[in-house]
Amino acid sequence: MPNHAICLVPAHWTAREVQSHRCSDGSHIHITYAERREMLAAGLVEALLPRVLRLKRTVPIRGLSTKTGEYLALQLYRRRPWARAMLADMLRSTAP
Ligand SMILES: [Zn+2]
Repeated sequence: MPNHAICLVPAHWTAREVQSHRCSDGSHIHITYAERREMLAAGLVEALLPRVLRLKRTVPIRGLSTKTGEYLALQLYRRRPWARAMLADMLRSTAP
């Protein structure tokens, strides 16, 4: 099983948009099956395609839910690179 097997795409992507990008073009990040389980359990992502997760858009940055904030802080503390990318995406997608 490859280490990074699941695509994690930005909140505004549709299934069609997923198909118009390649995994090698740097447009999204990849997470492991274990991280997929964690993020689904935390309610941060939704399944878009069987191997593609999409970030939920319901996280206004000024009101980052306690749950989400705590989760991200924990992941950043663990130096998970995807947590950084996810936070950056949230900041972008919720900009005024
Ligand atoms: Zn990918």
